[in-house]
Amino acid sequence: MTTNLTLDFIKGLPKAELHLHLEGTLEPDLKLKLAQKNKVDIGQTTIEEVQASYQFDSLPSFLNIYYPAMNVLQDEEDFYELAMAYLKNAKEQGIKRAELFFDPQAHTTRGVSFETVINGYYRAIEESDTLGISADLIMCFLRDMSAESAEETLQQALPYKDKFIAVGLDSDEKGNPPSKFAKVFAEAREAGLKLTMHCDIDQENSIEHIRQVIEDIKVDRIDHGTNIVEDQKLVDYVNEHNIGLTSCPVSNGFVVDDMKGKEIIELLEQGVKVTVNSDDPAYFQSYISDDLFALATKYDMTKEQIVQLAKNSFEISWISEEEKNNYLTMIDEYVANN
Ligand SMILES: [Zn+2]
Repeated sequence: MTTNLTLDFIKGLPKAELHLHLEGTLEPDLKLKLAQKNKVDIGQTTIEEVQASYQFDSLPSFLNIYYPAMNVLQDEEDFYELAMAYLKNAKEQGIKRAELFFDPQAHTTRGVSFETVINGYYRAIEESDTLGISADLIMCFLRDMSAESAEETLQQALPYKDKFIAVGLDSDEKGNPPSKFAKVFAEAREAGLKLTMHCDIDQENSIEHIRQVIEDIKVDRIDHGTNIVEDQKLVDYVNEHNIGLTSCPVSNGFVVDDMKGKEIIELLEQGVKVTVNSDDPAYFQSYISDDLFALATKYDMTKEQIVQLAKNSFEISWISEEEKNNYLTMIDEYVANN
């Protein structure tokens, strides 16, 4: 290490979490508790057994464990409890702003109503300020389902438009290009929502997918997307249009066996608004500060670089300019005193 960066310094550093799937925060203890409450047989009875079941080495093998686990989420209270548990943890991580993904189709396809999901999550969002966190929801479509299903989900969601601020796109990217969802994203934009899409690491046609999301769909942000370093024209485009990238190094390490730290640092050096986030922390056993610390340690990063990542997280978050400035000042004060 060239610096005196510690996990404690990183935890205390004010930051925004912009790439986190609420369903990916289901810790083994809560999973067991909800399974018992809702009488769902998950095939495990101890925390160790649940932990041991979280085994994967690729995006598809991860998704095969991820979706069945959601069966334990049944009523509004369950969704509330899941989001509240995350927000309490977020406070410990130094998170001041959280923009959180949820996957309604993962629940509506198994008979849980959209209303149950959003009302449960939103109740936690409303309480987030009691923890000193400003939070909002981003509704994601599952890209391995049809464009019609995404359209149906948007129609279900629009009556609740005051409860979420953006739409996103996640799940298995292979064979499911951004263009498949161009129409539903245009409608979401028309409805006043912000747009973001996952461009996962080292995917087939990854550069073409990144091109589609920024030039055709005209997203406000890209989730992952670090393959963009392979195309200077696209890097220049995101810089010109102030489009940020939400990267997740520990998650990358699990699904492609590379944290992509080299790419993250290169983007940072080119002035791209890249950030570090935790993706599905219960599964990767790494919350945002752990991600930052792992990256800093492995790639021998400087304090300035880590502080820049934290600043980027507020700069590309969907809050007012005044709020951004307040958080950036908060970072400067913290750095001056620590
Ligand atoms: Zn993700």
